[in-house]
Amino acid sequence: MDLDELEHGSTYRDRVSTVTEKGARNWLYVLKPHGRYYNYRNILTVFYLIVFFGMPFIKVNGMPFMLLNVLEGKFILFSKIFWPQDFYIFAIAMIASIVFVTLFTVVYGRLFCGWVCPQTIFMEMIFRKIEWWIEGNPAEQKLLNNGPWNGKKVAKKGLKHAVFFFISFLIANTFLSYIFGVDRLIQIIREPISEHLALFLGLIAFTFMFYGVFAFVREIVCTTICPYGRLQGVMFDKDTMLVAYDYKRGEPRGKFNKKQERTIGDCIDCHQCVNVCPTGIDIRNGTQLDCVNCTACMDACDYMMEKVGLEKGLIRYASENGIAEGKKLSFTPRIKAYTALLVILLLVLTALIATRKSVDTHITRAGGQLYQELPDNKLSNLYNAKIINKTNRNIPLELKLEGMEGEVKLIGTHSLELKKESVNVATFFIIVDQKEIKERKSELKVGVYQNGEKIQTVKTTFLGPFI
Ligand code: SF4
Ligand code: SF4
Repeated sequence: MDLDELEHGSTYRDRVSTVTEKGARNWLYVLKPHGRYYNYRNILTVFYLIVFFGMPFIKVNGMPFMLLNVLEGKFILFSKIFWPQDFYIFAIAMIASIVFVTLFTVVYGRLFCGWVCPQTIFMEMIFRKIEWWIEGNPAEQKLLNNGPWNGKKVAKKGLKHAVFFFISFLIANTFLSYIFGVDRLIQIIREPISEHLALFLGLIAFTFMFYGVFAFVREIVCTTICPYGRLQGVMFDKDTMLVAYDYKRGEPRGKFNKKQERTIGDCIDCHQCVNVCPTGIDIRNGTQLDCVNCTACMDACDYMMEKVGLEKGLIRYASENGIAEGKKLSFTPRIKAYTALLVILLLVLTALIATRKSVDTHITRAGGQLYQELPDNKLSNLYNAKIINKTNRNIPLELKLEGMEGEVKLIGTHSLELKKESVNVATFFIIVDQKEIKERKSELKVGVYQNGEKIQTVKTTFLGPFI
């Protein structure tokens, strides 16, 4: 990018760094950062990629660990199938997620963007590295882009875009395996394309989408398209943790001269923080929406500070108030309280998912039916049961009357065998002794047993004669 513009430090108020004065794209040539935070990000990236590409292959009891089939409304989280009947968990999870994201952002700013957002991880830690590897440093990239189309340029550009496309294809495959499951994806790959044309076209469309994003759109996703990024402004306050430039210490800035005693601020105006910035901003202009908190400028500045023998941390994690008051970032009671709330939210969500029942039984008295009188002073009512088996195995089940003398008599079968991943319907009589019935409409309970162990108690009513 044209650093001269930033040198005068005023254009950032008029337009985003990726747009020229004439409204054209300002292509960024980003310098590779080195340092402590970049090393942490490298480690995190390895872990992240293992999880991202490995997760679709993980199965527990033959069930995918995670499947998010939005098209067919089938969701599997932690190897538990979630049905439309579990929608309340999703509703609570959605509300909790919104609260979580808001609280998290108020306290920790764009920590998510810099460290775990897939866009940042893939763009900065995969595609950008490939670009450096093939096309060289920013100066070499600029030379190549501005140079004529000779054999070298064709080879470098061809190789880069082929690798980009291949990785985008891998990402698209993985993305679809989160939706349809890895088994189905393998089946699609093995069988003729004509049998899975729609999915194949989806795969190609997603490949081109990811390729387009990482090869061309790039940082514009973060600076312009991402709604989370756009909402930062309303979630930040002066105590939010940010990647911030310590203007109190850094200004007035000026070049370093080892022969002279330094009487100005610590910023040596080396521009390294700008050169490494993937969104092309100058963090010294203050907090900006375009900053994804990737920490590259922190590493770059620390490196320069170390080189000239000044204290590191001129650009660091801090809050606006912290910088103004000259304080280091600390775990304040406010951060503690918000973090505790975030942990509670996570625990509630985990408990909701963990305690969700695998078998869900609903019993209703058959509509339009009264009681039937049977020999030996017995009465019966007819019931319908809808039993959802949310697991991937057949389950033998037993229904027993609880707290009252009587029996459950299935109609048309002697035993209940719930089919896997399906809604099972059963019809049965509840037969009780007339002396048990003290009112016209009595409450009763039916125990649902799996292998002799009670897994649910369902309440219903029993209709008797007027007493
Ligand atoms: S200003 Fe620093 S933290 Fe923000 S995006 Fe640029 S390099 Fe990353
Ligand atoms: S890297 Fe540090 S010293 Fe260099 S210009 Fe940026 S803030 Fe100033």
